[in-house]
Amino acid sequence: MQVVFLGLPGAGKGTQAANITEDFGIPHIATGDMFRSAIAAETALGKEVRGYLDAGLLVPDELTIRVVSDRLQASDAKQGFLLDGFPRTQPQAVALDRILADLERPLTHVLYLEVAEEELLRRLTGRRVCKQCGASYHSKFNPPHVDNVCDRCGGELSTRPDDEPQAVAVRLRENMQRTEELVSFYTARGLLAKIDGEQPIGHVYDEIRWILRGERV
Ligand code: ADP
Ligand code: ADP
Ligand code: ZN
Repeated sequence: MQVVFLGLPGAGKGTQAANITEDFGIPHIATGDMFRSAIAAETALGKEVRGYLDAGLLVPDELTIRVVSDRLQASDAKQGFLLDGFPRTQPQAVALDRILADLERPLTHVLYLEVAEEELLRRLTGRRVCKQCGASYHSKFNPPHVDNVCDRCGGELSTRPDDEPQAVAVRLRENMQRTEELVSFYTARGLLAKIDGEQPIGHVYDEIRWILRGERV
């Protein structure tokens, strides 16, 4: 099962990915998480991408494609994967096709989580993420059991610098048009499953599970 998760920042991709990887046993490959780990570890990649992430701008295609291509060669991706946050541009989508053709593992599903802009703003400004495992919470919509403590690993929660209002506005602008183009691209290929991402978290996941099990087309 080779799955791409499409959706604007804040649509709920990371939240749902945690359930999917557990139930379907495929690795969650999230370019944003990979870039943030590189920044935290102060690697050469981290130094190169930091400015883009802080500002909410997209990392250049060439660099992003190289990172994903390397990651998809790893042995844990041989049985399938969930790609979250990639592709985000048309050249990335074209590159992904080429990489997967070489690996002889074409995409099987593209899940598109649709959420209106006002709701995205509410979600991003209240988002809290675990510093240790990256799990996503929301101060009102999805709070942890104990204030500021991750339910999954006990890590401390923090606010992402790019969830500050100014970077959020840039990110939405960067991604809206491009996401629509990708939705058209994958619809034309018959791969797209559109999901109403404004439902409660559990309902969204029920739909995802049906789709991935082939019980909803
Ligand atoms: P969100 O989940 O809020 O959409 P991500 O964690 O996916 O955010 O991405 C955070 C940042 O990482 C983006 O704003 C961008 O700077 C960079 N990034 C992630 N994926 C890509 C990509 N496919 N192409 C270019 N930049 C990316
Ligand atoms: P993405 O990875 O697409 O950027 P996240 O999974 O990090 O999005 O979710 C963004 C924010 O919205 C988080 O604060 C999360 O707790 C919250 N959230 C996710 N799904 C829902 C939902 N269905 N209803 C309300 N809030 C949600
Ligand atoms: Zn955690």
